[in-house]
Amino acid sequence: MSDSVAIENDVQERFDQVMAQVRGRLTKRQYQTWFERASLVRWGENSLVVGLPNRFYQVWFQSKFSEMVREAAEQVARAPTSVSFEIVDGMAPAEPDPDDAVDEVEAVAPAPSHRPVEPPPATRDLYPAPFSGSGTEDLPLRLNELYTFDNFIIGPSNSVAHASARAVAQNPGRAYNPLFIHGSVGLGKTHLLHAVCHEFLRRFPDDRVCFLSCEEFTNEFVRSLQRNDVDSFRARFRNVHLLVIDDIHFLKGKERTQEEFFHTFNGLYQSNRQIVLSSDAAPNEIPTLEDRLVSRFTWGLVSQLEQPEMETRMAIVRRKAELMHIEVPNDVVEFIASNFRNNIRELEGALLSTKAYADVLGAPISLKIASEALKQSLQPTGMGVTLDKITQLVCERYQVKVSELRSKRRGRSISEPRQVIMFLARKLTKLSLQEIGDHFGGRDHSTVLYAVRQIENRYGTDPAFAATLERMADRLGGNLREDA
Ligand code: ADP
Ligand code: MG
Repeated sequence: MSDSVAIENDVQERFDQVMAQVRGRLTKRQYQTWFERASLVRWGENSLVVGLPNRFYQVWFQSKFSEMVREAAEQVARAPTSVSFEIVDGMAPAEPDPDDAVDEVEAVAPAPSHRPVEPPPATRDLYPAPFSGSGTEDLPLRLNELYTFDNFIIGPSNSVAHASARAVAQNPGRAYNPLFIHGSVGLGKTHLLHAVCHEFLRRFPDDRVCFLSCEEFTNEFVRSLQRNDVDSFRARFRNVHLLVIDDIHFLKGKERTQEEFFHTFNGLYQSNRQIVLSSDAAPNEIPTLEDRLVSRFTWGLVSQLEQPEMETRMAIVRRKAELMHIEVPNDVVEFIASNFRNNIRELEGALLSTKAYADVLGAPISLKIASEALKQSLQPTGMGVTLDKITQLVCERYQVKVSELRSKRRGRSISEPRQVIMFLARKLTKLSLQEIGDHFGGRDHSTVLYAVRQIENRYGTDPAFAATLERMADRLGGNLREDA
């Protein structure tokens, strides 16, 4: 192998490492949509050029991913690196994946037009997010300035985790030690951990804070083993006042790192230094985690982040829009919040896609734009359908007033349209039974379930009624048939 080939392979390998890091930070779907078509153009002295298939990708990458790629590149290169994006001609379009046929680009990009595409300006304020903070000398602290307690919306799903995070930031080493926050992906673990660091530093500006991902902890440890210098690795942690490690479940299966972490933990704990950890699972549910670590993780407080309810999701969409300086009408807030339920990062992604689509079209954000922009991610149900739209249509059809439906009246003239709305909402949106019940002044989920079953039965046995329902679904832009 000639030298130049060897160097090229080396660069490609580094680029692959960068992509691997990026993959770790995105959902599978986001990664597939955006990064599967990214390629290495060149990586010279401190500058990386990434190839992309078209202008639309370029705009997105500049506004949304450049900071992330730069960070990853700097970690891999261990040197300051600038990142730019070039359109690469003749790049084969990626094969659509039949299982997860999400090509948001095609969904979002309008048919080819020659209108110049301006980068979405407002999104830059959030992506890349600014970083700040002071750490220890060899572990500079990089905190996202937007991940503060102020920017964290509190609801029943997260209030305990939020309150405990606040408590440890205000009373480090005394409130709960360690604080262990767990929850599935995109529910705000990293956000809360950053918020703890911000608040702690605000109160104790001279103290030393160390924040790192468990992956970084592991990598640093492995490096110190290779350099035969575990002592200086340990010394780094000895003097910190607050140690925050994100995604501690990454320790699974890594025996030596677990062992090392055990000692780090004990050292800090004994000197009353605060430790905060996050994980995708409760301590006893992390496979192959040593028992002694499991038990230590539960010494303080274990609190869970759960999936946020509708109101919390709406409030989050509003706050994110505010932070991004995006004007979003209420029906779009409701639309996004009702269709992206499990992961707050997806809520944000939906907002950004909507914004980008509106920018490309040069139009203000509207429900129509949002449903177009998000069409692909919403199939097969929920294409632009909101409870309000369903309610309006059904009221029109049955000639009743919305206020009558929400009342406790029972007569058939009211109960049938009410049940039809519940049925359509169940079929055409991703709202839960409870959320649908809330819409009708707090009926519980069993009432809604009963209503849905009633209508389902008639749908199956009364063809004229079924046709009416299908026409309504159609007008809403949805489809009731199973194969839809
Ligand atoms: P995790 O680490 O649990 O995967 P993150 O902390 O990265 O999740 O959160 C994903 C996104 O959702 C972030 O942009 C974060 O700001 C946002 N987020 C999560 N929970 C909230 C909340 N309660 N209020 C505002 N934003 C939130
Ligand atoms: Mg995280």
